[in-house]
Amino acid sequence: MAARILDGVKIAADIRAEVTAEVKTLAAAGHRPGLAVILAGNNPASEIYVRGKVKSSEEVGVYSEKHTPPDSVSTDELLALVDDLNRRDEIDGILVQLPLPRQVDAKKILMAVDPAKDVDGFHPVNVGFLSTQRPGLVPCTPAGIMEILRRSDIPVPSQEAVVVGRSDIVGKPTAMLLINSNATVTICHSKTRDLPGVCRRADILVAAIGRAGMVTRDFVKPGATVIDVGMNKVTDRAEFDRLFAGNAKREETFRAKGSTLVGDVHPEVAEIAGAITPVPGGVGPLTIAMLMVNTVRAMKLRRGAGELVKA
Ligand code: NAP
Repeated sequence: MAARILDGVKIAADIRAEVTAEVKTLAAAGHRPGLAVILAGNNPASEIYVRGKVKSSEEVGVYSEKHTPPDSVSTDELLALVDDLNRRDEIDGILVQLPLPRQVDAKKILMAVDPAKDVDGFHPVNVGFLSTQRPGLVPCTPAGIMEILRRSDIPVPSQEAVVVGRSDIVGKPTAMLLINSNATVTICHSKTRDLPGVCRRADILVAAIGRAGMVTRDFVKPGATVIDVGMNKVTDRAEFDRLFAGNAKREETFRAKGSTLVGDVHPEVAEIAGAITPVPGGVGPLTIAMLMVNTVRAMKLRRGAGELVKA
């Protein structure tokens, strides 16, 4: 039987609607959440991502401002900008779009962001809060994965979860959130022995690898929930045929654009999984929605939820 499709577009829209209502209440009481985005240099992909983040802020009513230092910006100049944003009370969230220009010490910049305003959840203080189950800011994509599971009524406690990928941005925080939700978690990576065999143990399989359609049907236990984090652009005809042969709709896109977007999971997996996130339209839309959630959360954590409610 074909898998249930977990509709990330719908879930993200629901979350945005909730955030919009909350921001309206907060703003009416004089507390409009504020987000500052730093986009250094002119990386075309980063420009698209930042445009999406600013647009989403406008839609939900979050105040946003974009800082665009030139490609030649120095580490010290960026540190001064971050320092200024750290001090400004009306800014609740600071997002430094990566990658930064080559001459900039990115680690130094990320470490300089006040952990209370770190809406990406990358600062080691927030990593520590997550691993010790204290209130903090959680990276957006992993938080979005948990929302997909929760809002789709997919049970997590006592389930076997396998996460393929151990990046600081996706794999590790996702594994930590699953552990905190009482799943039994295995983390895999490029040195894992018998990857398909380990993956087949999973009730919940998360693929965060960055390799087009690598997870084929022999990685998946029939009925498992499969969360596909990957976003890979396929331009090669043979690769396209391996993934989408016979798919008329994809064929049309591929012919028109010369490329198509595919996850880390082969489309054939939808024939045996119990539930699956599509690409596009699965995990992707959740990432920006959770950035909005994090901005409101940062405001509440920093300014004190009690004080805001009183107001
Ligand atoms: P990353 O930093 O490159 O990490 C990839 C991970 O996959 C690494 O841990 C690597 O293992 C592992 N891996 C690579 N090849 C493997 C193989 N053949 N077998 C087993 N494991 C393998 O990537 P990332 O930032 O976590 O992103 C992963 C994917 O998610 C990418 O496609 C990215 O575009 C996508 N993504 C999507 C969103 C979204 O909003 N939907 C957000 C972020 C990322 P080692 O550690 O051993 O090298």
